[in-house]
Amino acid sequence: MSVRALRSTFGPNCHWCGLAMDFDEPHGRPESATIEHLIDSTLGGVRSQKRRRLAHAACNHARNEFRMQAERQFQHWIAERQASEKTLNEK
Ligand SMILES: [Zn+2]
Repeated sequence: MSVRALRSTFGPNCHWCGLAMDFDEPHGRPESATIEHLIDSTLGGVRSQKRRRLAHAACNHARNEFRMQAERQFQHWIAERQASEKTLNEK
């Protein structure tokens, strides 16, 4: 599904912030429209066309960054939990 097709289906506004996207922006610019793949990892990461939406490149990028930050924080939490296993077992 192309940007053009997604635009005609879902409109010209960003999936995340709801603000208008600039379809004249060169690809890769912050306000340009990018295809956001909404992937439900519990379904094995299969990309469904029904779950493609348009979003600003900036919003798309920010979302990925925050998700990566959250993942790193979770990994850190897991590491701390594993490091404290001995303490937990002594209780
Ligand atoms: Zn946006």
